[in-house]
Amino acid sequence: MKKSILLACAMIASTTSFASEHEHAHWGYTGDGAPENWASLTGDNFACTGKNQSPINLTGFIESELAPIVFHYQAGGNEIVNNGHTVQVNYQKGSYIEIDGKQFNLLQFHFHAPSENHINGEAYPLEGHLVHADKDGNLAVIAVMFKEGYENKGLAAAWKQIPMHEGDKHAFSASVDALDILPENKDYYRFNGSLTTPPCSEGVRWFVMKEAVTASKAQIEAFKATMHGANNRPLQDVNSRVILK
Ligand SMILES: [Zn+2]
Repeated sequence: MKKSILLACAMIASTTSFASEHEHAHWGYTGDGAPENWASLTGDNFACTGKNQSPINLTGFIESELAPIVFHYQAGGNEIVNNGHTVQVNYQKGSYIEIDGKQFNLLQFHFHAPSENHINGEAYPLEGHLVHADKDGNLAVIAVMFKEGYENKGLAAAWKQIPMHEGDKHAFSASVDALDILPENKDYYRFNGSLTTPPCSEGVRWFVMKEAVTASKAQIEAFKATMHGANNRPLQDVNSRVILK
């Protein structure tokens, strides 16, 4: 009796350890962890093969009366992290946007090079994602495209302490302001999408700024130097979604 219980426990233990080992297969952008394998890395990534995935090529727009996003941002970027997948600025509480009659708090912003979304077939050298959540955990992402040109003031403030290695984290001496990386004109394209990284959760409101901003070649290169390769998920099928402008 005791022996069979022990055996059962051993079997459960070995199954569990296999499962967790499998789940910890590292996702990334190349090799075994590449985007086409994300869904099979762990059951948690089932949404990665969904029908409402990001990024997409934004085109075939539907004309719409889009309400302005109301920005209630303040300088609040208080730390910068290199998590091996991106460089991310974490934000203090207190900055939010209003859209769809809801309040979405700014949690962090981070970057992808080259851009993940395309606009009318065009990719950009860098894309920023400002990630927000409402009180129920619904996500809203504002995306901004960077083209090469003048130095970007917002990036300049953050990049002073850009963490070069995975796991590095630095606190800012002075708060970084997310508004500084956004264009003057806040008109946007809108669609329904997902996180562009595992677990690829859907139901994310996407707002892509129509106007690109600039970053200097040195600023773009500084980001790429921390990533050791591209960190953009390939374009996903639009399927039955509409893209509003
Ligand atoms: Zn992103």
